[in-house]
Amino acid sequence: MSINVVGIGYNNLIKVGTDKDGKMDINKLNEAMEKCKAAGKIPLAVVGTAGTTVRGCFDPMREIAAVCKKNDCWFHIDGAWGGSILFSPKYRHHLDGGDLADSFSWDLHKMMGAPLMCSAFITKNVALLKTICGHSQTAHYLLHQDREDIDLGHRSLQCGRRNDALKGWLCWKEKGDEGFARVVENFIEHADYLESLVREHPRLEMMSSRVFANVNMRYNPTPGKTSADLDLNELNINLRNNLL
Ligand SMILES: *Cc1c(COP(=O)(O)O)cnc(C)c1O
Repeated sequence: MSINVVGIGYNNLIKVGTDKDGKMDINKLNEAMEKCKAAGKIPLAVVGTAGTTVRGCFDPMREIAAVCKKNDCWFHIDGAWGGSILFSPKYRHHLDGGDLADSFSWDLHKMMGAPLMCSAFITKNVALLKTICGHSQTAHYLLHQDREDIDLGHRSLQCGRRNDALKGWLCWKEKGDEGFARVVENFIEHADYLESLVREHPRLEMMSSRVFANVNMRYNPTPGKTSADLDLNELNINLRNNLL
């Protein structure tokens, strides 16, 4: 949807395949780049995900950054869910190379528990947002040059909007880097514990490998037997609906 909203269009979105752990496959990324260029198209940007929504996977950012550098492409990291891992000295290695991105998005309203909504767009290029959102040229009747230090309108696509950044700042101030690290580690350690329960249980099974706080599992009443996956899916959907 986002690709339509920004005007690039869904047909120009290229999905890159993943390996068995759900991480972006660098060979497939390289192939997609070559295919795109051979068709006379210009690859604009690569989006790596730090903490995919369902599996909680982290793409190999250092390798993606090298591909982007070689192809003169923007490198964005979608860290909406997993960006918070950077606070934890124990687990941040999963996001190795994250510092090589041109931009990074991070939702404090997810793992950090800030009230909806509280999303940060982070970029090293300080002038970028002002250049793109240059309302000061077109909306000179609204935004005055001499007030740009306090006027968020200069750096946002929207004009009137809530000061969501204040919630993020307060939440960070209250817990501090160490408090944020504890939140992340607590979630991951609860997930480790849940995974151990699933693995010990005779009729529960893990559906994918995991590193973050996502635990994908299902109920299988006939372990060892090869029941049709479709039946199991239906059974698990019914189970979930009954639980709800
Ligand atoms: C939740 C999520 C989003 C969307 O985030 P919102 O800011 O809540 O709309 C984007 N990417 C990933 C990986 C997510 O998990």
